[in-house]
Amino acid sequence: MSRSPEIKFNIQKISTTAEEYLREKKERKAVAAVTQRLGDIYGDFELEKISILRDPEYLKEKGLTKEEAELKVHEVILKAQADLRTIAKKGRRLYPEVVAFFKRALDAPELSVELTREIKSSRDFKTADKTRKDSNHDKYLFAYETTGDFVQKGLVISDQLFRSMLELHQAEIQASKGVLKSRARQAVIDFKKKLSEVARKENLQLTPEFVNQRLGEISFDVKDAIVAKLKEIHAEYDSDFSNISIAHNVLDKKDLFRAVIFHELLHALSGRTEVVKTRGQYSPYIQNVRTGLYVASLHSKQIPRPRFYWLNEAVTETLTWQLLGKQIPKQPGNFFEYLNQMGELQASYGGERELYQLLLSRSRYPINKNLVLAAYFEDYDPNKPAAIPAWKTFIKALNESYGVNILLILDKIIKNDRSGGLAKAIQFLKNKEYMNKP
Ligand SMILES: [Zn+2]
Repeated sequence: MSRSPEIKFNIQKISTTAEEYLREKKERKAVAAVTQRLGDIYGDFELEKISILRDPEYLKEKGLTKEEAELKVHEVILKAQADLRTIAKKGRRLYPEVVAFFKRALDAPELSVELTREIKSSRDFKTADKTRKDSNHDKYLFAYETTGDFVQKGLVISDQLFRSMLELHQAEIQASKGVLKSRARQAVIDFKKKLSEVARKENLQLTPEFVNQRLGEISFDVKDAIVAKLKEIHAEYDSDFSNISIAHNVLDKKDLFRAVIFHELLHALSGRTEVVKTRGQYSPYIQNVRTGLYVASLHSKQIPRPRFYWLNEAVTETLTWQLLGKQIPKQPGNFFEYLNQMGELQASYGGERELYQLLLSRSRYPINKNLVLAAYFEDYDPNKPAAIPAWKTFIKALNESYGVNILLILDKIIKNDRSGGLAKAIQFLKNKEYMNKP
């Protein structure tokens, strides 16, 4: 029996102030600026396919008649409609984004007279009761459940209208790019102001030079709201390219936009550990292995799986609300309450935040929040005698209170049960008998 050889990397930690590090980051960003497109947009692939199918050169090359090509176009549209239906059914949480997609497209003034007429005639969604066998029939473009009665709602539209809707959707996302740029600029200014107040209060070790450098390198991009919601996110920070992307529907929600962007800016500002990875004859590659308290996988024996995602998000969201100067609102109790609150400000990572608060409050000896924040903002510096002293102090305090490896234990409980792990971890800490009593 032969054993597959372990992939061997040479990993060396590098300071985030090292010239080599800063140069590589700058070069990567320049390449990204050229190649970066909007990323995944719903319908993007289909529209591209349609425009190819309508290119006379392509038809000549493939020996297709116009009629044959139009048949293929019809197939592409049917497939796109089916995909949207799947998306809509995927989960109740996605429903608002899909409805918004239809609503915006149907209300658009750019549509031709014929298409507007078509919309008017099909505006009343067709309904079917739950006894009907065809409730999943293809003619229903999307479907959802309401309380009590099971109601299916659907809409039948022509190829032409559906294609126009895809085009409008993309045009809207493109247009929001400019809006994002100016709003983001203002948000960064607000963020810096709030941050300096909180940094003073919490005694955070953040120099203005460091803050300006880190935030100065960030670029902003929009994401399709449908795609973003599929990934269950509002926004995303990519540390490799120093880029923040935000779902385009968040742009219309002033308070939510502020909360979302503050959260991502904190990720960008939080401490990092970076490594230079070398493998065989390949050229060295700089990779982020820690952002704040989140440790990414190194795909090696050292760190095989990512760790502490929950803790990093809990600290980030808690700090976000401190910067906003607001009380964290209560999580809506059920889905319908959630729908009613659409567009209003919500806090994310409720379970993670509860676990984090318990970690601080159930400890045998008091654990100061500042220990956590110091570790969160700590940049790894291999040139210093102690490279991550704040993290070590925080872990020592946890060990004294809970015994060794409490973070890894909680991490394991969460990972072992995708849907209920967080609740189990919360219960685990609640069962600890001590509360700040030595
Ligand atoms: Zn986050």
